[in-house]
Amino acid sequence: TREKLLQLKGKSSETLDGVKVEINANIGRPADISLVQANDAEGIGLFRSEFLYMESREFPTEEAQFEVYKEVLERMNGKRVIIRTLDLGADKHVPYFNIPNEDNPAMGYRAIRICLTRPEIFNAQLRALLRASVYGHLAIMVPMITSLDEVLKTKEIIENIKTQLRDEGIAYSDDFEFGIMVETPAAAMISDILAQHVDFFSIGTNDLTQYTLAVDRMNHTIASLYDPRHLAVLRMMRMIVENGKKHGIWTGICGESAADAELIPAFLAMGVHELSVSPTAVLDVRQKVRDINLALCKEKILKRLDEGTLSI
Ligand code: PEP
Ligand code: MG
Repeated sequence: TREKLLQLKGKSSETLDGVKVEINANIGRPADISLVQANDAEGIGLFRSEFLYMESREFPTEEAQFEVYKEVLERMNGKRVIIRTLDLGADKHVPYFNIPNEDNPAMGYRAIRICLTRPEIFNAQLRALLRASVYGHLAIMVPMITSLDEVLKTKEIIENIKTQLRDEGIAYSDDFEFGIMVETPAAAMISDILAQHVDFFSIGTNDLTQYTLAVDRMNHTIASLYDPRHLAVLRMMRMIVENGKKHGIWTGICGESAADAELIPAFLAMGVHELSVSPTAVLDVRQKVRDINLALCKEKILKRLDEGTLSI
């Protein structure tokens, strides 16, 4: 019951045998923070910044963005806030930015592909983020990565912005983290290389499922084929987590399946460090984690992943 769940506020998110997992919340606007706090999330694992763009009549200015990021960081009071850079395109559009009609928008001009070809849009957002970094624990996360080149270009832009800000005498913190969403099979397959250039991975199971299974997440006709529990998706996730661990970085999950109670033991068996879910699911997930004895099930789950007999 809800009352019983509320008793979990302030309690740690760890398994019966003491394995800790960070349980964060996904939000879409600053107003969601009261829900994040009411449900005792340990931080924000995904702040989708699109609302700033969707609720505006033109690209939001650096100043307008700075105010919002600062507010979120301040209200989260030193807890980690992962802000995702613009993920426009595919299913998300704004009237003032015309993306030419595309036959396959999910595979089209979107997210980082827009940001890297429109430097003025990306610069404004990254400058706002860096300026806000002094107000809390910021992590910047880039969506839809498919190549090392995109990661290196983004890092270079960030380095240039640091120089600009220093020259202008504007404060920023050097402590922010930089991570990527792993939500394409390409990023998963080169995650051993990408891991050497970022501080963390966050697996976007919504898109990773779509691209791995070649099933459009928006297409109702084939909705029954859209399966985040598919062995191909789970094996890919395991590979991402293991490549991250090999290079000393942590991996979280911020897609919908992070809250799938049936999958959580498998995620912990893989070594996932963080689960980011909608604010109202935080305590359910904490309960689920606290009920698991990982030592008892880990080897069995990993063996079933190898054999292909994991059935959920
Ligand atoms: C995802 O793809 O899993 C994700 C978290 O991002 P979005 O749903 O916004 O594409
Ligand atoms: Mg996505």
